[in-house]
Amino acid sequence: MKQETKCIQAGYEPKNGESRMIPIIQSTTFKYDTSEDMGKLFDLEASGYFYTRLQNPTNDLVAAKICALEGGTAAMLTSSGQAANFFAVFNIAQNGDHVVASSAIYGGTFNLFNVTMRKMGIDFSFVSPDCTEEELEAAFKPNTKCVFGESIANPALTVLDFEKFAKAAHSHGVPLIVDNTFPTPINCRPIEFGVDIVTHSTTKYMDGHDTGVGGAIVDSGNFDWMAHADKFPGLCTPDDSYHGITYAEKFGQGGAFITKCTAQLMRDFGSIQSPQNAFYLNLGLESLAVRMDRHVANAQKVAEFLQQNENVAWVTYPGLPGDKYYEIAQKYMPNGTCGVISFGVKGGRTAAEAFMKKLKIGMIATHVADAHTCVLHPASSTHRQLTDEELVAAGVGPDLIRLSVGIENVDDIIEDLEQALKG
Ligand SMILES: *Cc1c(COP(=O)(O)O)cnc(C)c1O
Repeated sequence: MKQETKCIQAGYEPKNGESRMIPIIQSTTFKYDTSEDMGKLFDLEASGYFYTRLQNPTNDLVAAKICALEGGTAAMLTSSGQAANFFAVFNIAQNGDHVVASSAIYGGTFNLFNVTMRKMGIDFSFVSPDCTEEELEAAFKPNTKCVFGESIANPALTVLDFEKFAKAAHSHGVPLIVDNTFPTPINCRPIEFGVDIVTHSTTKYMDGHDTGVGGAIVDSGNFDWMAHADKFPGLCTPDDSYHGITYAEKFGQGGAFITKCTAQLMRDFGSIQSPQNAFYLNLGLESLAVRMDRHVANAQKVAEFLQQNENVAWVTYPGLPGDKYYEIAQKYMPNGTCGVISFGVKGGRTAAEAFMKKLKIGMIATHVADAHTCVLHPASSTHRQLTDEELVAAGVGPDLIRLSVGIENVDDIIEDLEQALKG
């Protein structure tokens, strides 16, 4: 199936007489005839459901659709994008380990890594996504367990060179994890370029309508854990909490990562998405391909408008010829990037704040990447925890405005921007 078809058809195939839409299994609990039946589930001897803190059938159907869209072997939903990135890294890195991450990542992820996960004893080295192969090489340590980046960084809009990062990660025997929230699998399929694990904040384009916070993790099935067993004892040695199961043996290269992540992390942290939200997420996925086309077309016109406006100092959009990331975006996402643009208003921080106040259609929101056009000044909101130095390292100057172009009529969006810029 093509991507557009998978958006509608993948993940759930109703049998004769069954509901066409994914059923919402709004149940915490699942009933079994015998204790032995249930015991097999607890030992991971049989697959099935017993408690929604770990797994729920509605969620799994939606995860299967996302898995198909990304071209992976296994996937799971989480309660948020934050939970997805935490789980993806914590599933293979623990106290005493080290992670190499791109410095151009979402502010929430940067905090998660640089503050909270450091408290758990995990060390991080941040590298520019534009670093040379030598600089990237120098960031690795003997205890490095993975490399992390964003396909298109929120809000810096840098495009990750997947092949450069994958090559470095694989030469050190560790996987590359990529957050693919902004382009979505409609515009970019990181697994095709060597990425091993893909994560999402489904809160953004996938949901697409401001309805539910959620996340997803997809395993490519391409990383050979057993070939690097010494680095990944959690996957390659027996788990005492499951009667000595070795995930990489029992569930194979394609299933080990997600099974362990569900059986241990979801069990212990309980960051499950509600089945009701998973249902909404599936509705969003059905129209994802159509919406992404419109987001990209609108953003292209808006970026070109901004570029020519006398009150705009600069525009960053990887779909604009001449943008620093135009060529690399053409390579990894030739059909388009996303609907998010950053630009600077002439007059800096004060002028930017005045511009924001004048907007009528563009709403001020911390949110991005959904049907509604929304605008944000990161330095005074989402990224306010960062020092000026860290802001620049994250590619988010103090004057940056993030504009998430929605799927309204583009003429209305441009008219709104034009009057606000005049003001
Ligand atoms: C929003 C976002 C996150 C965090 O997702 P939540 O669903 O808000 O927890 C992570 N990564 C990227 C790229 C994001 O845009």
